[in-house]
Amino acid sequence: MAAMLEVKDIHCSYDHVPVIQGVSLEVNEGEIVAILGANGAGKSTTMRTIAGLMHPTSGSITFNGIDITKMPASSSIKRGLSYVPEGRRLFAKLTVRENLELGAFTSADRTGVAERLEEMFELFPILKSRAAQTAETMSGGEQQMCAIARGLMSRPKLIMLDELSLGLQPSLVEKVFETVREIRKRGVTILLVEQMVQEALEISDRGYVLQTGRIVHQGTAKELLNSDEVRRAYMGM
Ligand code: ATP
Repeated sequence: MAAMLEVKDIHCSYDHVPVIQGVSLEVNEGEIVAILGANGAGKSTTMRTIAGLMHPTSGSITFNGIDITKMPASSSIKRGLSYVPEGRRLFAKLTVRENLELGAFTSADRTGVAERLEEMFELFPILKSRAAQTAETMSGGEQQMCAIARGLMSRPKLIMLDELSLGLQPSLVEKVFETVREIRKRGVTILLVEQMVQEALEISDRGYVLQTGRIVHQGTAKELLNSDEVRRAYMGM
């Protein structure tokens, strides 16, 4: 069976400076897959390109059998591909509830939105108690939960999570990653980008390690966790 997401040999540039130089990867339905690597390796660019926020100069991206290489992000969202950007990007002055409702903006079905809100409050009880609070008054961890919940409001088949751990204390990182597992249990496939290599691999099925725009290692999470080279380069061992 074809993979849910197939990225084939994409190249991306900023102002003609090549940043992604032939990245190929696959995500199968039901998997948690991690894109790993150091600062500036091109992880976010890869994800932004899959999301349709920028387009590759060559290569292709297929989602559920449909070529989305040149599609705008708004079309990909309607097809079930959601993206939670690095740094959360919540609307600071809007309440938690309003931020979540905006995540469902592609949906015309208002009753559906109320139902989804309830689902999100069940998955993230903390957001229920903070529903009327503005996003800017919440802690980093709560904001991250809100950003994930907003990304889930479009009822995606696949959600892409960029650097969830950024700026969170270790105990919160663990909590956020637990939530990722819970989301998968609910039938959503996950592609995540992380600099915290070990922690990310512990919740993933497979991973790809990026270095200066190229994939230098790939394998099951177990293979990568056991690889001396990966451990030395990315886990400080
Ligand atoms: P980080 O975790 O720091 O975001 P990353 O692996 O996600 O790292 P990218 O953000 O994809 O890496 O950046 C890859 C390269 O592209 C870097 O050299 C970066 O400086 C460059 N880059 C990223 N965004 C832009 C931009 N908007 N304009 C020009 N260059 C950019």
